[in-house]
Amino acid sequence: MLNIENLTVSVDDKTILKGLNLNVPAGEVHAIMGPNGAGKSTLGYTLAGRPNYEVTQGAVDFNGEDLLEKDVHERAAAGLYLSFQYPLEIPGVPAMTFIRTALNAQRKLRGEEEMSAPEFLKTIRDVAKTLKIDMDMLKRPLNVGFSGGEKKRMEVLQMALLQPKFLILDETDSGLDIDALKVVSDGVNALRSDDRGMLVITHYQRLLDHIKPDRIHILVDGRIVHSGGPELALELEAHGYDRYVNEAA
Ligand code: ADP
Ligand code: MG
Ligand code: MG
Repeated sequence: MLNIENLTVSVDDKTILKGLNLNVPAGEVHAIMGPNGAGKSTLGYTLAGRPNYEVTQGAVDFNGEDLLEKDVHERAAAGLYLSFQYPLEIPGVPAMTFIRTALNAQRKLRGEEEMSAPEFLKTIRDVAKTLKIDMDMLKRPLNVGFSGGEKKRMEVLQMALLQPKFLILDETDSGLDIDALKVVSDGVNALRSDDRGMLVITHYQRLLDHIKPDRIHILVDGRIVHSGGPELALELEAHGYDRYVNEAA
């Protein structure tokens, strides 16, 4: 579903991704783990099409299409969703308005009809309930003054409504206490399906106790240096990244 070949990316003339290869089939959840500064967020931003992330080499195929050719909104319409490490605050725009606008914009790009107001309300109510989000919170400006846990739950709410084909979660566990981690992980697990792929980026093993990956890839200094099964997370938890950092150096 997502096939990345030799991806090389510079930010402000500094090369950060250095020939990264990765293949995530539909129906699978892959984790990217790595030390701080390895380029994990850079990978997410590059796939989402953030400006200033200059691809100097390589290719990304998403469902048989050239992802790098697409604009940011076209990538979203194609079903790619990036959940940021630090979700953006949008003063003045109620969360509910933001989500409804995003949903309808996506439908329009796909040539589908807008969701009616009553249908939208019913859908968002159901999802908010499972994520333990108060409806009052959805009337407040998106993420403004929300706690870390509330922001992450809002991200999962958006995913549940937008139903993306491919999810990239960047450090979704950061800033979450155990209870919020459980709610967020349950929400993400509910989105697992045979026709959806997921890339879970995390520094710590903790999240992967809740969201069990099919494969784990270790990212060091802009490259995937090792891949393995879920047991790799436990090895990293016990021994850290040193071995892989030294091998890469
Ligand atoms: P990770 O998410 O794995 O912690 P990042 O992708 O955030 O790593 O960063 C990778 C490297 O790129 C780091 O060395 C960071 O300092 C550098 N970097 C990130 N953004 C920029 C930028 N805008 N300009 C220059 N260097 C950057
Ligand atoms: Mg970091
Ligand atoms: Mg990061």
